[in-house]
Amino acid sequence: MIPAMSDSASSNDRLLARSLDAVWHPCSQMKHYTRFPLVPLVRGEGVWLYDADGKRYLDAVSSWWVNLFGHCNPRINAALRDQLEHLEHAMLAGFTHEPVVRLSERLRELAPSGLGHCFYGSDGASATEIALKMSAHFWRNHGQSDKTRFLSLANSYHGETLGALSVTDVALFRDAYGPLITQQATVPSPDWRNAEPGESAEAFALRCAGQLEAHLQQHHATLAAFIVEPLVQGAAGMAMYHPAYLREARRLCHHYGVHLIADEIAVGMGRTGTLFACEQANITPDFLLLSKGITGGYLPLSLVMTTDTIYAAFYDDDTARGFLHSHSYTGNPLACRAALATLDIFAADDVIARNREKSTRFNALAAPLREHPRVSHFRNTGMIWAFEVDTVQTDFARQCFARGLQQEVLLRPIGNTVYFMPPYVIDAETFALLVNRTLQIIEALP
Ligand SMILES: *Cc1c(COP(=O)(O)O)cnc(C)c1O
Repeated sequence: MIPAMSDSASSNDRLLARSLDAVWHPCSQMKHYTRFPLVPLVRGEGVWLYDADGKRYLDAVSSWWVNLFGHCNPRINAALRDQLEHLEHAMLAGFTHEPVVRLSERLRELAPSGLGHCFYGSDGASATEIALKMSAHFWRNHGQSDKTRFLSLANSYHGETLGALSVTDVALFRDAYGPLITQQATVPSPDWRNAEPGESAEAFALRCAGQLEAHLQQHHATLAAFIVEPLVQGAAGMAMYHPAYLREARRLCHHYGVHLIADEIAVGMGRTGTLFACEQANITPDFLLLSKGITGGYLPLSLVMTTDTIYAAFYDDDTARGFLHSHSYTGNPLACRAALATLDIFAADDVIARNREKSTRFNALAAPLREHPRVSHFRNTGMIWAFEVDTVQTDFARQCFARGLQQEVLLRPIGNTVYFMPPYVIDAETFALLVNRTLQIIEALP
């Protein structure tokens, strides 16, 4: 039962109390919501979210990196309404439908060449699970059953289910859930913040690739795959690196007989300035993972794209040689239609070219932040901006989030790293407002 509330309580307060009573929120210490209240949302439009009192919040993090073309986008809404009238969902084992076929064909045309086969899941973590299982099963089908280990970068993030967690390098998770998983090895990250003074991002990337080679040389016989977040390690605090690392990783993985898995869940769909981040290194990975932005931020959908070579290793009369994996909502037609509508917008609006202009323009607008004495390592890749803030403020991330809300901006720092990852429909005026409000927050820090 909903406890009776006084008449003076706003509908915001009522929704908040009911949420704390009934909903267990993700990635949260629920008790903290007594000090940092939840924000009850009632609607979204473009880059803005609105609460029940009509207060607005600029979604500067694209609602956890998923939204591309704004909330309640009219074109995606129309596609979903149309799909609802035809087929909302049906199982994909033994059945197929136009949206899933068309999406797979279009992605094959757009992705780095050679990635001709799409396997579907519902969220990012399940795409990671699928790629890891497929890779190890490939080697097994090839008579190399010893290749069951995986390698990732230091500070990597590939999702939070147990398999994905085993290739995720986040101290907080490792401490809590380490005993449940077989933690896989890591190699040093090419994150250029760790370069020596005077060392270029490219030289540092190549030095890190040397460390990757040393690991592969020693362990390739038991390694199935190396999994990376191309160009930007998001959860590591938007750690950016030079594409030379990916070129080298591709060459080395090929040489040592280890699969390369490109986790483009966060960086795919134009986020780094090209539709796929791998394009900037001119490589084709053995597996490419997509989720988050693929539906424009509308519905849960993930997919694993892979090569003819991988596909062929499973194609057989024997059931046990097939890929044994399924999810109830595999290839959901509504989610596929949202993804198709998203791809239509990329084509119709020439989004990649337009974003390139926006990125240059926004960098100029962000100059006061870059030059601020408390800001260091200001960086940008495509439609991602990030920097570290120097402050004695304890609990900076939560304080910044709370102050941001007072200033109408949704910021969710990772440690002392503030980042902007706005929907692509943000205009210069709104980006300038974001820069200004962020400056005010930084100025007010102790
Ligand atoms: C978000 C993310 C995932 C996990 O996706 P979920 O949908 O949250 O399970 C995996 N890899 C990367 C790089 C991500 O950013």
